[in-house]
Amino acid sequence: MSHTAELIAVGTELLLGSIANTDAQTVSKALSALGINVYFHTVVGDNPQRLRQAVEIARGRADVIITTGGLGPTCDDLTKNVLAECFGKKLVYNEEAARRMEAYFRKLHPDSGKMTENNYQQAYLPEGCVPFQNDWGTAPGCGFEADGVHVLMLPGPPSECGPMLQHRAVPYLSGLTDGVIASRSLRLFGMGESSVEAQLREKMNSMRNPTLAPYAKEGEVELRLTARAETEDAALALIAPAERELRERFGPLVYGVDVPSLEAVCLTLLGEKALTLSAAESCTGGLLAKRVTDLPGASRVFKGGVVSYTNEVKEKALGVPAELLAQYGAVSAPVARAMARGVRALTGSDLALSVTGVAGPDSDERGNPVGLVYLALAWEGGEHVREIHAAGPRPRIRTVAASHGFDLLRRQLAGLPL
Ligand code: ATP
Repeated sequence: MSHTAELIAVGTELLLGSIANTDAQTVSKALSALGINVYFHTVVGDNPQRLRQAVEIARGRADVIITTGGLGPTCDDLTKNVLAECFGKKLVYNEEAARRMEAYFRKLHPDSGKMTENNYQQAYLPEGCVPFQNDWGTAPGCGFEADGVHVLMLPGPPSECGPMLQHRAVPYLSGLTDGVIASRSLRLFGMGESSVEAQLREKMNSMRNPTLAPYAKEGEVELRLTARAETEDAALALIAPAERELRERFGPLVYGVDVPSLEAVCLTLLGEKALTLSAAESCTGGLLAKRVTDLPGASRVFKGGVVSYTNEVKEKALGVPAELLAQYGAVSAPVARAMARGVRALTGSDLALSVTGVAGPDSDERGNPVGLVYLALAWEGGEHVREIHAAGPRPRIRTVAASHGFDLLRRQLAGLPL
């Protein structure tokens, strides 16, 4: 049976715009992977009456309601009280939840002794529910069924909501769907979402099992194939031919399946080939280096980098000839080449990436347009320059520029055309 879900995020901060509703994104992603259709996201403040209204509307149009937030002691367990009341459930004391909270409290405050009475309030859960014990904070969540509606409550802090969703709510929800859901995500770089979608529109509309859904990321596209079957193997077998077809269609644009990022793919390839990398960055200001060093294991392959923002540093640290800078300007293919060569010589790395461009908001003194970026990759016996024209605000241009650097690198490492 297919389910429809509504998410209700509880929190006045969300309505005031103080924080973004990232829990909704996390929960929605997980539900779509389970094949549960999310039709509505609702946000409501810390107000019992309005939460009640939101719940009454939601139960009329969804058979899965998931709330986030409002479980902590500070808001008097607003969400739990209102949801229990709406579905005619009494709140009963859950011994295990109390013990776990005490243990968590002791770990956090070894010297300060006991929990306060309002902490214990959090151990009351709706009668007959499946408790979602909280190993990542204090307030437990829960799931229950009433009048044909499944209600799940998760804590607000993303560091609690995410793990509780993954370890408690997803297993609960998997039990509601027939069979098993499996999915595979193809990650593409080098083609815009609208072009990918235009190529696939007809196919996507006709596919039932597996389904195909595109998601746009900054300069990237993720294509998720999701199938439902008796077993995981059977679901994956349904996905396999569609995945083959997509791989054939998009060829070298597909940089991986079920991989976290372009840089993670690069790190794996560098590790496999026992090669090292360095980076010389102008407009990305260290973003390439950051994205590589965010990954565990980076120290084995990343030697270091230079943020050569000014011409002076390009000359002094990287040995970019002054004449080159004067003749072509800092944002040019020859300077990108010289930067990559320079940082490779400086660090002794096997490969070196460089980026120089105009991140905006204004064009540079030579009149180069915002979004013009040159990237170079240098290796033993060769080098290659890529010119890109990235659109959007400054942060996006920098992200897309760094991604192009990783794309050059993974293509070179995988033996693909640059
Ligand atoms: P706690 O036990 O910490 O009180 P709670 O379940 O009561 O958790 P809230 O008090 O509603 O949650 O929110 C706690 C914090 O969690 C908020 O200040 C905010 O930083 C974060 N948060 C809450 N809801 C969301 C959301 N939907 N998306 C992202 N962050 C959220």
